[in-house]
Amino acid sequence: MNEIYNLKLYNSLTGQKELFKPIHKKYVGIYVCGPTVYNNLHLGNCRTFISFDIVFRYLKYLGYKVRYVRNITDVGHLENDLEDKISKKSRIEKIEPMEVVHKYTLSFHNLLNILNVQPPNIEPTATGHIIEQIDMIKKLIEKNLAYEVNGSVYFNLKEYEKLYSYGILSKNKIDNLFKKKLNFSLEKKNPQDFSLWKKASSSHIMNWNSPWGKGFPGWHIECTVMSTKYLGETFDIHGGGIDLKFPHHECELAQAKAIYNNKSNFAHYWMHTNMLTLNGKKMSKSTGNFLEIKDIIQSYKKPFFPSILRFFMLQSHYRSVMNFSNQGLINAEKGYNKIMNSIKILKNFSPKISKKNNNIFDVSHWINDCHKAINDDFNIPLLISYLFKATHFIHSINDINIEKHNINLLKKYMIHFVFDILGLQEKEKKIENNYLSSEKKLRILIHRLIKFHMEARKQQNWIISDRIRKELSYIGISLHDEKLF
Ligand code: AMP
Ligand code: ZN
Repeated sequence: MNEIYNLKLYNSLTGQKELFKPIHKKYVGIYVCGPTVYNNLHLGNCRTFISFDIVFRYLKYLGYKVRYVRNITDVGHLENDLEDKISKKSRIEKIEPMEVVHKYTLSFHNLLNILNVQPPNIEPTATGHIIEQIDMIKKLIEKNLAYEVNGSVYFNLKEYEKLYSYGILSKNKIDNLFKKKLNFSLEKKNPQDFSLWKKASSSHIMNWNSPWGKGFPGWHIECTVMSTKYLGETFDIHGGGIDLKFPHHECELAQAKAIYNNKSNFAHYWMHTNMLTLNGKKMSKSTGNFLEIKDIIQSYKKPFFPSILRFFMLQSHYRSVMNFSNQGLINAEKGYNKIMNSIKILKNFSPKISKKNNNIFDVSHWINDCHKAINDDFNIPLLISYLFKATHFIHSINDINIEKHNINLLKKYMIHFVFDILGLQEKEKKIENNYLSSEKKLRILIHRLIKFHMEARKQQNWIISDRIRKELSYIGISLHDEKLF
């Protein structure tokens, strides 16, 4: 059976692996919670964004037209009811909150670009959707599922429970939640009622006018608003780190159900990536237990090429906890080099024999196995083991043990899996693309054109060769060809 259209995803909502069927044939809508932009990314964040980059790349590879929406949380949310992360940073760095947001949004893009993470199709910001958030909150109040107190608005979980069931994603029972004695604001009706809108204190710089006075939106509402605005009331995949499952995703889901009265659970498939740990503890900025990309790629002890870091992240399944270690990186580098060398061998190898002979490596079977691994809820570690199997064979290829057709197939799929789906990059290519000056790039381009012109002449393709000569003459480069015959 052709494995390619048999993608199964582990759905956190049902706790099962399910066959992926998009709502609209050929189209996929995916929403992933983006970062709060008050700091540089740490490696843990990168793991999550790389995991969803692979999902995005693979869905496109399967031929779907994908709309990938990943938000930017640029409204500060209260950390300890006193000061939010963005305001705190603006105080420490002595810059405007919006400067903090801009600075770290640029840094976020730059860091993901270093790791070859493709940008989403839409990257909406919370501050760009204040009107829509206020609208949604108003509707929740109209439905008696939210209430206002002293300029703040809260989601009413007891009322929601009368119509729907809270906790279906995280499997938290509402009665147990209510039993927990939380240190909560006295203005809430129930301790677990979450904020939709918060009244701004006089010192809170990031605030907006609303029907309830000056304030700012709660965290969960932005994602319900932006996901449904760009993907519809129900969409295919919602993703994020597992630490967001509760309360953030549970609250997003409750808000969506409350607004759209739907039974379809907002997103059909929920995907949660597990945590990257350091010394056995979750990487996190707030605890200081983290590493940044620069610690790896600019390390004074041993700098690693960014694709090696990316390859390291792919060694564990996205639903397993992964611990960061230097030895792990060193091993990843060896593996990365092996794979890249084998691709070089493939690129330079042109078999002369095209008749059927004894293939000791069944390429079609191997391609099927690779697809099977990815289709099994993105079992990338298994895919990598198949890549190594191919690598092993590639190092032994010669004219006798592989036919022309199969070598071309192997080359094509190694390139698909390694570059298109896993998003790894060759060192030379990366250097060429990103680090060369425009002048150097231009020189390379002109050389390539001249080479192309000479090839055309050798093939007596005078139309092309003359055209290139003419185009080059427009920019002042004249070619003086020697006689060929
Ligand atoms: P934040 O800016 O904290 O909301 O994080 C952005 C994304 O990174 C979220 O999807 C988080 O779940 C994810 N994330 C945060 N810490 C880690 C970690 N240690 N390992 C993997 N993902 C993480
Ligand atoms: Zn979110």
